Amino acid sequence: APASQPAPLVQPWPTAGAIGAEERGLLQSGDGIYVVDAHGRQLIDGPAGMWCVNVGHRNAALADAMRDQAMALSYNSPWYTTSQPSDALAEALAARAPGDLNHVFFTTGGSSAVETALRLMQFANNVRGRTEKKLMVSRQGGYHGSTYLAASLNGRPRDQDWMDGAGSLVRKLTSPDPFRRPAGMSMAAFEDFLVEEFRALIAAEGADRIGAFVAEPIQASGGVIVPPEGYLKRMRALCAENDILFIADEVVTAFGRLGSIFASQDVFGVEPDMITFAKGVTSGYFPLGGVMVSARFFEVLRQSNHPDAMFAHGLTYSSHPIGCAVALKNLELLEGGILDHVNAVSDHFQQSLKRLEALPLVGEVRGKGLMACVECVADRVSNNPLTLDLEVGKRIDAHCHELGLLVRPLINMCVMSPPLTITREQIDEMADILYRGIAMTMD
Ligand code: PMP
Repeated sequence: APASQPAPLVQPWPTAGAIGAEERGLLQSGDGIYVVDAHGRQLIDGPAGMWCVNVGHRNAALADAMRDQAMALSYNSPWYTTSQPSDALAEALAARAPGDLNHVFFTTGGSSAVETALRLMQFANNVRGRTEKKLMVSRQGGYHGSTYLAASLNGRPRDQDWMDGAGSLVRKLTSPDPFRRPAGMSMAAFEDFLVEEFRALIAAEGADRIGAFVAEPIQASGGVIVPPEGYLKRMRALCAENDILFIADEVVTAFGRLGSIFASQDVFGVEPDMITFAKGVTSGYFPLGGVMVSARFFEVLRQSNHPDAMFAHGLTYSSHPIGCAVALKNLELLEGGILDHVNAVSDHFQQSLKRLEALPLVGEVRGKGLMACVECVADRVSNNPLTLDLEVGKRIDAHCHELGLLVRPLINMCVMSPPLTITREQIDEMADILYRGIAMTMD
């Protein structure tokens, strides 16, 4: 192991990233875009933890908000009580969400938000007597979480179809990945193909059997897949025509990563029926997530005489007051200048990383806002995927670590999604280290 790596740690599951990883870096502190490892080495936090430390590490305003809330009211049951920060956050999110998405069901993170959205779909269809309308459509390359149902929607190569049960209710469409579209196919033809594939699925299964289409506006863990221009709008329209809920999984794209609070409408011009969120809502300082639900949908629940109509299901830590307090302060920071900063530096971020395409190992650099992916290929003629064996992945990681950058290699890709406060100079430094780290790996 390189000298900079601490000795392997013995940690309990479910530190899920640990499975298969023999060594993990022990981090001892963080400040802004940096973290400090056990050897005192300062590293740029390239993935912002897991796409979540949006306002950066060691933010005093967030720390104060958490402490103040813990000293005021440390916990309340979300079932029979509420709290000032949870009410205020619900109101703030409703005001910022598109269209009539003005009800929020708080959860503890992204997986539980996706689960809740789909349970709500099925529950509402049941109370309306549409008991067969429960199939869920997701895409290859998607990632929606690690609980049973959410994971059944995932479409990354390594988590394909090994779970029975929930998987039988899920249908998967092609990833809208322009880089991997069939050779010779234009972008317009690719977009048509994707939309037609969904139309054909609806025809084959029957609209009365499909309950929801779940999609990340940009597939994040699947490799920052930015879909063709009109794709999301056309998929949304197909959902509306067939009374299928369009659920935007904005666990990564919301709260600033693309320069707005929610990206579906601001960035893609789409008004979903539900939005799931987590991660950046608290900049990762406290576990919190939720589902934004439309007034239309909420009315279905409210008018039902089913005993469970208000969906009083839940999680002990739903709408945790400390999480909601930190989320409110986080929102204030994002709107107090960070969103403007993201919009100002995004082009520079993308261009700076685009330089890596000069490296023979790099097939494509793509992205939007402050999320980007460097995809490695076997060669630039075939663009065949390069499945980095663990040694090569480790070497990129180790070289970058030596040079001062934390990376999270995803099999054949490196994803960069730093804290949103990153400056132009720091962006250049980050891109430069990644360039040198990959170049050293090819030597
Ligand atoms: N949806 C998306 C798009 C995600 O990226 C993730 C987490 N990476 C999840 C859902 C699951 O969120 P959590 O890990 O908070 O359960």
